[in-house]
Amino acid sequence: MPTDTNSILEPARRTEVHGAYEIVVLGGGPAGIAAAAAAAIYGRKTLLIERYGFLGGMGTAAGVTNFCGLHANVHGEIGQVVHGIADELLARIDRLGGLNAPHLVLGKTHAQAYDTAAYKCAADDLLTGRGVDILFHALAVDARMDEGGAIQALIIETKSGRRAVLADIFIDCSGDGDLAAWTGASFERGDGDGNMLYPTAMFRVNGVNPDQAGEAWRTIPERMAQAERRGVRFPRKGAIVRPQRHPIEWRVNVTQLASANGRALDGTDAIELSAGEIEGRRQILGYFDFLKRDVPGFEDAYIVDIPPQIGIRETRRLAGRYQLTETDVLACASFYDTVGVNGWPIEEHAAGDVLWRWPDIPESRGFNHLPYRMLLPREVGNLLVAGRCASMTHAAQSAARVSGACFVMGQAAGAAAHLALAANKALSDIPVDALQRMLEEGGAYLGRDVN
Ligand SMILES: Cc1cc2nc3c(=O)[nH]c(=O)nc-3n(C[C@H](O)[C@H](O)[C@H](O)COP(=O)(O)OP(=O)(O)OC[C@H]3O[C@@H](n4cnc5c(N)ncnc54)[C@H](O)[C@@H]3O)c2cc1C
Repeated sequence: MPTDTNSILEPARRTEVHGAYEIVVLGGGPAGIAAAAAAAIYGRKTLLIERYGFLGGMGTAAGVTNFCGLHANVHGEIGQVVHGIADELLARIDRLGGLNAPHLVLGKTHAQAYDTAAYKCAADDLLTGRGVDILFHALAVDARMDEGGAIQALIIETKSGRRAVLADIFIDCSGDGDLAAWTGASFERGDGDGNMLYPTAMFRVNGVNPDQAGEAWRTIPERMAQAERRGVRFPRKGAIVRPQRHPIEWRVNVTQLASANGRALDGTDAIELSAGEIEGRRQILGYFDFLKRDVPGFEDAYIVDIPPQIGIRETRRLAGRYQLTETDVLACASFYDTVGVNGWPIEEHAAGDVLWRWPDIPESRGFNHLPYRMLLPREVGNLLVAGRCASMTHAAQSAARVSGACFVMGQAAGAAAHLALAANKALSDIPVDALQRMLEEGGAYLGRDVN
């Protein structure tokens, strides 16, 4: 019997190198897709590493099935403000018949639903078409630093064994800031008081009668209130129940997952994640009972999908060279180093509710700039961090974590990595005007033409 039952000592070992790349992207969500696509278009030898067997991140793995943040309410007019690689992906999803027309959200902006199967295939096509190497079923587990404090290798575990991946520049699009954390880069969690945004287990139902369901999303809040009066309990208010491309299928965003202390479940804790999967499915069954019983058109519906994992909104956030704040979002801040825009409001998933805070509409331009410095760690030279784990406060992240802003940050990170290699400069020293020119040439909108 070993004397220490809390830990074991593993022997040192030699790890085979999977490959040497110019740019390695960790994570295949919206940020990672855009980062890899942007890096590869400049001819960079690029590898994207993803733990699942498909791309899309929370958008597919957690069944989000809806793009937010592609649009903004610009002085009263709703229009698309995120372009570039996002356009290329959307066009491919549309060609596969998997994209809804944009729909109105709370009377103020648009979102756009999609089918996960089409998203997965479209993202494969986008990246393979640009020559990105994709390694699926590879879980990154550690980073190896060199003597100068730069990342030398990312360590991954695969079915073929443990491997090291070498690169000049790494882009952390893991959503959880896994790579940044292993390097020792500074990061934060939550609001400073231990509160993160609550996760949600999404699900979709099929067999809805669209004629009878009609615009059920308008009546569901009142039907929930009636059900509560007869004793039914719901995990949260603010249910989002909306049709997909084929209106016999609807997505349901209503569960809310807490840890034992009642605060948001921690998406970097394996034990809490395990409990959350089970609790998520329990809540799904409860809400599905309500839909069948109380909502016309759902009587013959069935649950067609509970996605591979619960949806995690927030875990680690980089504490980088600039932290986007709630004031930046609400005041539609401008930055000299804008790489694109965020038009989504503060969407706080608090205990039992979803709280919204918007910039002034129609007085404001309805979007803030996203500065390049949000992607730059203070400590590690050859690392960028893009997506929901980029450098923002807890409140700002509740806005700029959505897909639109993640596409923006990813595209900027991929282009910046190329520029640093081409100019032989540190990521923190690249000429920002050159980066902005490249992004605009790549179709991106930087939001510099409207105040
Ligand atoms: C329930 C829910 C509903 C939401 N609703 C909407 C919505 O309607 N519209 C919208 O636009 N946004 C919505 N969001 C937010 C949005 O989906 C995410 O914030 C967005 O996907 C973040 O993109 P990302 O690329 O930064 O990270 P993610 O989408 O989280 O992608 C990270 C990727 O990295 C991979 N990965 C992570 N760690 C590792 C590792 N160690 N090794 C290998 N791979 C790894 C993951 O598998 C994943 O594919 C929602 C989020 C949730 C949770």
